[in-house]
Amino acid sequence: MTNFRTLRGMNDILPSQTERWQKVEALARDHFARAGLKEIRTPLLELTELFSRGIGEGTDVVGKEMYSFVDRGDRSCTLRPEGTASVVRSVIQNGLLKQGSQRLWYGGPMFRYERPQAGRQRQFHQIGVEFFGLSSVRSDAEIISIAWDFLKDIGLNDLTLEINTLGTFDDRKIYREKLTNWLEKYKDSLDDNSLIQMKNNPLRILDTKNPDIKNILNDAPMIDSSLSIDSKNRFLRLQDILQSLSIPFCINKSLVRGLDYYCHTAFEITSNQLGAQATVCGGGRYDGLVEQLGGPTTPSVGWAIGMERLLILLGEKFSNIIYPDVYLINKGEKAEVEALYLARSLREANFKVELDNSGSNFSKQFKRADKSCATWAIVIGEEESKNGQVKIKKLTQSSANTNEIFTNIYDLEKLTRLLVS
Ligand code: ATP
Ligand code: MG
Repeated sequence: MTNFRTLRGMNDILPSQTERWQKVEALARDHFARAGLKEIRTPLLELTELFSRGIGEGTDVVGKEMYSFVDRGDRSCTLRPEGTASVVRSVIQNGLLKQGSQRLWYGGPMFRYERPQAGRQRQFHQIGVEFFGLSSVRSDAEIISIAWDFLKDIGLNDLTLEINTLGTFDDRKIYREKLTNWLEKYKDSLDDNSLIQMKNNPLRILDTKNPDIKNILNDAPMIDSSLSIDSKNRFLRLQDILQSLSIPFCINKSLVRGLDYYCHTAFEITSNQLGAQATVCGGGRYDGLVEQLGGPTTPSVGWAIGMERLLILLGEKFSNIIYPDVYLINKGEKAEVEALYLARSLREANFKVELDNSGSNFSKQFKRADKSCATWAIVIGEEESKNGQVKIKKLTQSSANTNEIFTNIYDLEKLTRLLVS
């Protein structure tokens, strides 16, 4: 017999963990609602071309990490590796951009064929925010503040916000040439990947994880040397606003996104407690993307947070389990049906009820009731059901002063009064 296991890099989220996930998700939803964001949900599967055009042919995600296959209708499809391209497709397809600026959030699983390690899976989860139709530097600051405040809200204090600017398309054209000329001198020391990037989009080399190349790049010209006055001023303005919002930041000049539709603000929120996978949140402005995917020119800015990394950082926080209010012990033909009746009534009255369906003896059921950490045990046996009664016992009291109360099973009002006492 085969023992089936999950695919590499794809994890079950077990009942002992789902409580934490739900709490963090609920906090995110609440936070987003207060920020005036609306949720958008898109399919997990899209045409491959959406991602190759939307993320960029020269990127690792498109080049090496996509889960793509040909479907029965001969279309090349891909499991979404990120959320932005799908959200952009959706706002174009559904005409949302004609209805004024859009402030959206999304969440859910993403798929990338990467080498699995701590904080890096092949199926992982993101929550993300996108603004469409907002061009001012104030919206860059606002979207950063939404990420920053959410992460603070859920109790992460040791985070670093790194920011940079990529300037405009024209700024980057100048920079690209400068960087390529400089890299020519070091061609012999570059790895294969960097040589390919040098041809396709040399800015991405600055994002390398290879320490030898990082070393070489220490003296490379940086984008700030190619920025126009307007771009420089915009970046200074962002820093001013962040300062006045008391959001601490540092400038990381090698923080880049190599593709042409990115511009101005790029940022990451990192933690030194995540080892090599330090980035919890990454985002930036991508004014050219909507057009690139067939829509009208639309200024856009967004970010995404990796949920697994967030949960690693939260450690034991939010891991307290919710216990039942009532454990329902029952035995005997009539009693068992009445127990089910009572479970439904109490659940309707908003109590969390665990019903023992084992049919085993009372002492075994009582042991399980203790183990469940419920506040109350309610017992219905042959005797009780004959009298139309239930026995209530507070489990959290020591047995010395245990009070057993008998009450009418159909007097729900009295019963619930007793349970909240
Ligand atoms: P990295 O440099 O760590 O690969 P990235 O630049 O590929 O990150 P983005 O595409 O910007 O990441 O995605 C935003 C966030 O999603 C990341 O900051 C990270 O928290 C999370 N993330 C990305 N890829 C993975 C993965 N394979 N497993 C878990 N989380 C991930
Ligand atoms: Mg990556």
